[in-house]
Amino acid sequence: MKIINRRQFIRKTPRIAAAAAAGLYTPALFATGETKMQTQNNITAVLPKPIQVVIDDVGWWSGKDGSKQQEPYRTGIKRDHVPADYAAIVELGKTLNIRPQAAMVLCEWDRENILKKLPTSTWMGENWDNSKWIGPWMEEAADIIRSNPRNFEFTMHGIGHEYWTGDTFTRAEWADRSGVMRPRDQVELHLDYFGRLMDQNKLGDFPKSFVPTAFRHGFGLTEGHDVSMAQLLKGRGITYINTPFNIMKNVENVQHGCFGIDAGVMTVDRGHDLFNWNIHGAVFDAEQVLRGATCGMHWPNLLHPDPERNSEIVQGWVKFLAPYNDKPDTILAPNSVVFQRQLAHFVCTKLNLTGKSVELDFSETDTMPDEIGKKELTLKVESPEPVRFKANDIKIVSESEGKQQGSLLYTLKLERIKGKKSARVDFINAS
Ligand SMILES: [Zn+2]
Repeated sequence: MKIINRRQFIRKTPRIAAAAAAGLYTPALFATGETKMQTQNNITAVLPKPIQVVIDDVGWWSGKDGSKQQEPYRTGIKRDHVPADYAAIVELGKTLNIRPQAAMVLCEWDRENILKKLPTSTWMGENWDNSKWIGPWMEEAADIIRSNPRNFEFTMHGIGHEYWTGDTFTRAEWADRSGVMRPRDQVELHLDYFGRLMDQNKLGDFPKSFVPTAFRHGFGLTEGHDVSMAQLLKGRGITYINTPFNIMKNVENVQHGCFGIDAGVMTVDRGHDLFNWNIHGAVFDAEQVLRGATCGMHWPNLLHPDPERNSEIVQGWVKFLAPYNDKPDTILAPNSVVFQRQLAHFVCTKLNLTGKSVELDFSETDTMPDEIGKKELTLKVESPEPVRFKANDIKIVSESEGKQQGSLLYTLKLERIKGKKSARVDFINAS
């Protein structure tokens, strides 16, 4: 990171503008810190990278890793899951004012053994019997989910997580090991039954987001199909997929680096999780940093062996994540919709900082489908002196002020004005 004073800044401004014109000043570079200006005398403007928490494998009642017996991997936790494990997700959400995505697996929520009719979805096939897991804990957990819509997003993961043919499973439920989608009729049936399991338990409307089980997924068309998984999901109202790109099939077709658009569905790179899937109760060390836009984890990472002590682990995550809201170049997304929109701006919107204003160019952002990139965005401005802001061709919805290493850090929530392809925010010295 370069430190330059005001005089140098002014002298360098033409070069900065030239760099911006050459596309070197994209927010992606800001996020790496390579080109960010930060000095006592100067102003820094950043379109911060949004961070979204995604928690996999929520929904099991058994914690057992059954993979050796042709049962699902589940969570690997050495106890049953309890409603307090759902409360842990809500506590994380409430404390950080975010809406973590809980990627749900629902077979053990089957109150009527309907999955007998969908033998590819469980290890028991036509002999499916879930009576063991039916009990008051279901309603208690469902009530926690229903009562906390702002701090718990119900995301689809799967029914049984894997795909059974007879007594044996292969990875995974929605696509095979190489990412080729399962037969279309089976995918449609699994989607139907996922919805029916939600209805049995009054878990609300069909989700808008999806995390493929075992991260087996293909971007766009895969062999033997004339429709993509994203297209089928879109037919059910899903608009966003989160999955690691390092094992995604057809990753070379992704258009925007850390995200791509597949049949109008935003597909975002999860990157690498901080902890292994079966680490029970995450403990952080000073070396750990988030590199991508997704903070991915598995349910046990958030939980304590003693569910009454879940809060201790949750608070470790809070302590780790909270600073990402306070840094100039990142922000915790309040929910996954704002996350998608800000990510589009972070990657596609051009930002050009001059001495007195920041110019935003939305030409590339406006190639996104639907409302992605066309509504709100967050801009952070760091300044050694108090400043006021005046918006041109954009609305300032809210403004908050914090302190960052002796500077003032302003967080501006902006709302685009329909039809405006660019906008400018002027800085006015307030002292
Ligand atoms: Zn999973």
